[in-house]
Amino acid sequence: QVLVVGSLNMDTVITVENLPKDGETIIAKDVSRFCGGKGSNQAIAIARLGGNAIMFGKLGNDENGRELITRLKKEGVTTEYIGIEESASTGSAFINVDRRGTNTIVVDPGANYSMDKKYINEKSAVFSVANYCLLQYEIPMETVEFIITKCYEEGVKVIVNPSPVAEIKEDLYKKIDILIVNETELSELSGMEVLEDVFIRKAMSVLINKGVRCVIATLGPKGSLYMDANYKVEYQEAFKVDAIDTTAAGDTFTGALIASFVKGGDLKASMRFANAAGAIAVQTKGAQNSIPKYADVEKFIAE
Ligand code: ADP
Repeated sequence: QVLVVGSLNMDTVITVENLPKDGETIIAKDVSRFCGGKGSNQAIAIARLGGNAIMFGKLGNDENGRELITRLKKEGVTTEYIGIEESASTGSAFINVDRRGTNTIVVDPGANYSMDKKYINEKSAVFSVANYCLLQYEIPMETVEFIITKCYEEGVKVIVNPSPVAEIKEDLYKKIDILIVNETELSELSGMEVLEDVFIRKAMSVLINKGVRCVIATLGPKGSLYMDANYKVEYQEAFKVDAIDTTAAGDTFTGALIASFVKGGDLKASMRFANAAGAIAVQTKGAQNSIPKYADVEKFIAE
C-alpha cells in the first residue's frame, strides 16, 4: 500500500490567443475543467499502473471536492482518509495557455493548506496500513517535514518528489529512502547549475551526501538516472517519441516507478517501465487523462 500525501486541485484551463498583458482584459477561446493536483495525479498514476494507492489530503465541502472524490474512486484509489475542511474551498489552479502553448498558472491552495499536524495526528492510523509514503510539496512544508519524521519513526519508507521545489531541514534528508527530482529540482536542491550532463551525477552525489538513500533524476527526453548511497549509478535511456505536451510527465513517471517498484520489481526494470509510461504521457495533451494504464505500458514496451 502506498500512502500518497498531497494536493487535490480542480484545474481550470483557459485557452487564449495571447496571454493578457498587465492591465489587459481579454476573451477566452475555451475554458475547461480537469481534476489535478500533484498528489491526486500521482495517486491515480499508481492505481492505473498496477499499484494500490491511499490518498491522504483535504478538500472543501463543495462541488469541485465531490468531483475529485468521485474521480479518485473511479480510478480505484482509496479515499477514506481524505478530509473535508469546512472553512476552505477545494484547491484550484487557473492555467492560461496561449496558441504557442506558453502558460501562466495561478494556484489557490485552499483546503490543501489545512493539512496540518492536528489533522495528521487525528488520522495517524493511516501510517500503520502503508508500507510506503509518497510526498510532494503542494501542502504546507511544516506538514511535509512532520510526516517525513513520523514515517521514519513508524518504519514506513519515505519517497519524496520535491515539487514545487523548496528546502526542508537538512537533518530530514537522511530519513528519505527515494528522492525523485527533475533537472530543475536537482539543480536547486544541490545548489549546482545542472547544465551539462557531467554535472548531473555530481549534483546527485550532493543529495546523497545529505543522507538520502537513493536519488532518481528524470531527464526529460534523455530518460532517467539512479544513484544509490554508494554513488553507484544506473542509466535508463528514454523511449524515442514525439512529445506533444509534457504536462504530468513527471507525475506519471513517479507513479509508474513506485507502482512497479513496490510490487517487487528491481529499480532498473522499474525505471524502464516509468520511462515508458512517461513517454506515453508526453504524446497526449492534458494531465490525468494522459496517464496510461498498466496494459498500455506493457504493450508499448513490447512494440
Ligand atoms: P518533469 O515533467 O517533472 O519536468 P521530465 O521532463 O524529466 O519531468 O519527464 C519525466 C519522464 O518522462 C522522463 O524521465 C522520461 O522518462 C519521460 N519523458 C519526458 N519527456 C520525454 C520526451 N520528450 N520523450 C520521451 N520521454 C520523455
